[in-house]
Amino acid sequence: MTVLVIAEHDKQALNGATLNAIAAAARLGMPVHVLVAGGEAQAVAAAAARVAGVQQVLLAQAPQLADGLAENLAAQVVAVSAGYSHLFVAATAHGKSVAPRIAALLDVEQVSDVIDVLAPDTFKRPIYAGNAIATVKSGYPVVVATIRPTAFDAVSAEGGSAPVVAVEAVGDAGLSRFVSREIAVSERPDLGSARAVVSGGRGLASADNFKLLDPLAEKLGAALGASRAAVDAGYAPNDWQVGQTGKIVAPGLYVAVGISGAIQHLAGMKDSKVIVAINKDGDAPIFGVADYGLVGDLFEAVPALTAALP
Ligand code: FAD
Repeated sequence: MTVLVIAEHDKQALNGATLNAIAAAARLGMPVHVLVAGGEAQAVAAAAARVAGVQQVLLAQAPQLADGLAENLAAQVVAVSAGYSHLFVAATAHGKSVAPRIAALLDVEQVSDVIDVLAPDTFKRPIYAGNAIATVKSGYPVVVATIRPTAFDAVSAEGGSAPVVAVEAVGDAGLSRFVSREIAVSERPDLGSARAVVSGGRGLASADNFKLLDPLAEKLGAALGASRAAVDAGYAPNDWQVGQTGKIVAPGLYVAVGISGAIQHLAGMKDSKVIVAINKDGDAPIFGVADYGLVGDLFEAVPALTAALP
């Protein structure tokens, strides 16, 4: 029994979520291999080989693998899958696009959003927007699973010395075509991996007012996030959305400003270590999960808090 983790990368470096998926794989107590697929991906493969606990890296290189097209990557995984009992990928947008295709090609059911590994065939995963945890057992010879990154502490990126084995690249499936990539450039840390997050909700009342959060985030070294209502209203960009249909985050500090705390929002942030809520409504549900709550007008509280921080 061996587990293959499908690496996510930006052509230069491994995505941090891959280290969380490797941590979940290590919990199975069996050899951990990593597949790196790309156009020119030697540097990423070398990085994967240095990850603690990785026994072997498979490297598939071809122009049709250069841009992470899910159809081609899924075919690549299936091509090398013989002998693997588990195929793991992080539950990021990328992983969620690839894993179901792998499962369909192998004709097995996928286990989604794994938050705990109990046995090689038994896993825990959240259901009902995180309000219940299901224990699921796979009856298939191959387990295809997406791993929730925030549920597993990342393994060390250093300490390993695995061999890199070149594998034959699959041809172009011809089902999709890379057109362009638009990457939001931000001076703030990445929302998914930031140690602190300052999120705003509909209470901010406008895109202009959202700028009030910048100095606070700056002082805390925090990423900026938002509720869906704030995103839908155009106050904040789409990729800031935290929650059931946005990003799942679990930073050391989460500051919710003018956010009511609907269950769909809580599903994305309630595992944060320390939650601070600022809301003028003392009955807002966000106070039910907050470690520190401030009932007050955010337009006074946020500048005062920012000024009080060193
Ligand atoms: P509101 O609920 O309108 O709350 C605004 C808060 O601001 C209020 O509590 C108010 O008291 C406070 N406030 C107003 N003015 C001030 C002031 N001056 N000072 C202090 N406080 C003030 N939501 C998400 O966030 N993420 C998701 O991923 C998500 N997915 C969803 C998926 C589905 C299928 C559905 C049905 C809904 C989803 N939602 C999601 C929406 C969710 O149900 C809520 O509508 C949303 O989270 C509300 O956002 P909000 O708290 O910013 O707005």
